[in-house]
Amino acid sequence: MIDLKNLPEEGWRQRDRYDRLELTDGSAVDKITFDLFLLPSKEDVYIDLKSQATWLGACPRCLAPVDVPLSIDVQFMGSFDPDLLIGGDHAIGKQDLDVIYFESHEMNEKDFVREQIELQIPSYALCDEQCLGLCPQCGKNWNKGLCHCQEDVTPEPSALALALKKLNLDLNR
Ligand SMILES: [Zn+2]
Ligand SMILES: [Zn+2]
Repeated sequence: MIDLKNLPEEGWRQRDRYDRLELTDGSAVDKITFDLFLLPSKEDVYIDLKSQATWLGACPRCLAPVDVPLSIDVQFMGSFDPDLLIGGDHAIGKQDLDVIYFESHEMNEKDFVREQIELQIPSYALCDEQCLGLCPQCGKNWNKGLCHCQEDVTPEPSALALALKKLNLDLNR
């Protein structure tokens, strides 16, 4: 926890690493390093975060694990005044900064790093652009070879087809 109301005038810096962080979507990142710098500026706090991590995701087509390197480099103005958010951004010198609102006078650096990492997670990370995915019928990973379901015309049999198939089976009994 960082006491945001008692930051040293020259700023406060934390360089650290975490082995692993669990994310809210159920995925995780590992090998996280970060460099967090907080500089008090009147009532507000300038925030600079640089972080590297590896996202342990899954290919949406074949579900194979996918490691995606993430690089975070963000700057904000942190404010205790919710009214500032209406203005959208703050200018420091020539820089326009996004404003984030501090709900408390303490910052949990781990949560902050985790939140910023979550924002960088790719929504669709394929194991390979050419990934063939899984067979919708037998579940075989087509990247490792095709299955025989291919010969069937309909990948997902309709309710009618299933009913006919069952009828056929019954008649053959
Ligand atoms: Zn894949
Ligand atoms: Zn198949």
